[in-house]
Formats: sequence, structure tokens, C-alpha cells
Amino acid sequence: MRLIVAGALLIASITPAHASPNYAFPISGCAVTYARAHHNYPATDILTKKGCKFVAPTSGVVDEVNHVDKFSWKTNKGADRGGLSISIVGDDGVRYYGSHLSKIPTEMVPGFRVNVGDIIGYVGNSGDAKGLATHLHFGISWPTPAGIWWVRRGELYPWKYLDAWKAGKDVSPSKAVATLEKKLGNVPKLVGY
Ligand SMILES: [Zn+2]
Repeated sequence: MRLIVAGALLIASITPAHASPNYAFPISGCAVTYARAHHNYPATDILTKKGCKFVAPTSGVVDEVNHVDKFSWKTNKGADRGGLSISIVGDDGVRYYGSHLSKIPTEMVPGFRVNVGDIIGYVGNSGDAKGLATHLHFGISWPTPAGIWWVRRGELYPWKYLDAWKAGKDVSPSKAVATLEKKLGNVPKLVGY
């Protein structure tokens, strides 16, 4: 038994890192539509059906998670607008964020390791998406200290990466994100909404 386990570990360790795709389209198993524009700041709203799988676009580690929808129009707090949301920091150094989810697996807590394509949530209408067309809000940014929601929600337009990943091409936003962070700083001030 011990020998078999050791053999499996050996195989795992000699498998090339690029044996599987580095990037995956963040919605799996459902039809999607999305625009090349977003209100107020760069992000992409991926329209799809409630319950569709939100998967890790690349391998990495869970960053921040909101397992409870605390949003209310009375307070309209920026930190709560995403409702059930999760961000991961990829091995590429880029942070990926998805919000308005209906459910997040309980094992998704900060520091939890995920592989590209792993289910990290299910599409819904939580937060300020209540009553709107069901969609995954998808944001690309750089890692920050916890609670910097106005960076986490998106700094770089994701659509061209989404187009590539949908077509099965491994295109990384890491250089573009690093350039943008250099220009704007790690925690730029919130402007507007
Ligand atoms: Zn959005």
C-alpha cells in the first residue's frame, strides 16, 4: 500500500506543470453572454442561469469570502454589494473575484488551495443584483490587504481574457495587472460609486 502511494506521488511530481490548462472560462457547463463594457469601473457581468458553476479561472489560493448576504438598499455599503462573493489569488499573482453568488462551498475559506476549474461558487442574484438579470460579476485586480472592496471588484477589463479562455487559449492578465498596479498604487482611493 505504501509503495503504491509513493508511486502515485512520484508520478504527480514528474507531471509537467503545464499538462493541464492554466486558465479556464469562469462559468462551466452553461451558456453565457457578456458585454465589453461595465458600469462605473472595469469588470464583466457574465449573464447566465442561476445555479451555474463558477469555477477557478486559474489555480491559486482563496483570498476573501463572504458566505452571508448582508446587502440592504438602506445602507448600500460598497463592501456588501457583491452579496455572496469570493476572490482567489492565482499562482499568476492576479486576483480574481466573483459576486452575486447563490451558494459558496463551505470549504472555501481564506488560504484554501484551489485548482483551475474547481467549483468555487454557484451563480445567483445576491447583493445588489436582487431583481436584476442573473449574472456573475467577474473582476480582475491585484492582491491588496483584506477589505479593499473597490479594488477587489475589478481594475482591468476581463473581456479579452474571457474571450481567450472561452476559445481554449491560455492568455494571462498578469503583466497588464502588474503594470496597472504600478501606475495606480496598491490601494488607490475610491473614486465615485
Ligand atoms: Zn458587475
